[in-house]
Amino acid sequence: MKPIGLVDGKIIDISENIVSMEDRGHQFGDGVYEVTKVYNGHCFALQPHMDRLYRSLRELAIPAVYTFEELTEFHELLIKESGIMDAAIYLQITRGVSPRTHSFPENVVPRLTMSIRPSSAAIDKNKAEGCKAMLIPDERWLRCDIKSLNLLGNVLGKQKAKSAGCWEGIQVRDGIVTEGTSSNFFVVKDDVVWTHPKCNLILTGVTRTLVIEKIASDLGIVVVEKKFDEAFVKSAQEAFISGTSTEITPIVTLNNQPVGSGSVGPVTRKIQKEYWTLIDKECQRK
Ligand code: PLP
Repeated sequence: MKPIGLVDGKIIDISENIVSMEDRGHQFGDGVYEVTKVYNGHCFALQPHMDRLYRSLRELAIPAVYTFEELTEFHELLIKESGIMDAAIYLQITRGVSPRTHSFPENVVPRLTMSIRPSSAAIDKNKAEGCKAMLIPDERWLRCDIKSLNLLGNVLGKQKAKSAGCWEGIQVRDGIVTEGTSSNFFVVKDDVVWTHPKCNLILTGVTRTLVIEKIASDLGIVVVEKKFDEAFVKSAQEAFISGTSTEITPIVTLNNQPVGSGSVGPVTRKIQKEYWTLIDKECQRK
C-alpha cells in the first residue's frame, strides 16, 4: 500500500515536486477540487461527485478537458496501483500554468492532479460517539456553492474550532446558521430534520443530497430546507454533520452545551445506519 499521485493521467510518486510555481492553483487558488471515498476498492457516489466537479468548472469558466470516462479510469488506476482499498481520492483541476497575472491567460491548458491516501481511522470514534462543535462566524466569500481551491475561510474556521477543542466549526452568517467548515449541518427538532437551503451560501454536499433525497425519503423522515438561527439550534433535540469523509457524524456538544440529551439521538443514528447500508450496497462491502 503506497500513497501515490497522478498528474494529467500519469501515475507519479507523491513526493515528486510536480506543481509549477506558475500554476494558478498555487498562485491564486484558481481551481476546483473533489474528494471521493473508496470502500472495498470501489468509489462511492463517483457520478454525483464528477457532476459537481463539471458544474464547479463551468462556474469558473475553466474548460473541462477530461471526460467522465477518463476521470473514472484515473480513479480506478489510483486504487489499482496503490493497492489501497479504503481510501480518500483527492482531485484538483487548476486553470493551468502561466506567468502570473490576475485575469485569465489565453491558451492555457487546465492541469489535473490527483492523490490517494488511506482513510483516516481517527474520525471513526466521532461517528460512533458524536463530536463537539462550536458556532463561529462565516467569513467566506459569496460563492460557497463552488468547490473551489480557495479554502482560507474554511481553514481559519476549522482551526478556530480545533483550538477550542472542537471537531467542527458551524458557521453563522447574518444570524443564520449555514454549514460546517468541511461539512453540511442538520438539526432535528420534533422529529423534523432541518438544514440550510441550497444556494450560493453553502456547498451542495453529495452526502447532503443523499440524506435528503434518498435516506430520509426511504425512512419516512421529513426534511425541510429552510433557514434557521442560533436560538433554533440551541433548542434542537439532535444535530449532525454530513460529508464524504465525515459521513454522518453526530454532534453531541455545541458551544460546550449538550445538544438535546447530550448523547447520539435516534434520528441521527437511523440516518447514519442507512448511509452505511448504501455504501455496503454500492461498494459490495461485507
Ligand atoms: N460543506 C463544505 C464547506 C465542505 O467542504 C464539504 C466537504 O468537503 C461539505 C459541505 C460536504 O460535501 P460532500 O458531502 O460532498 O463531501
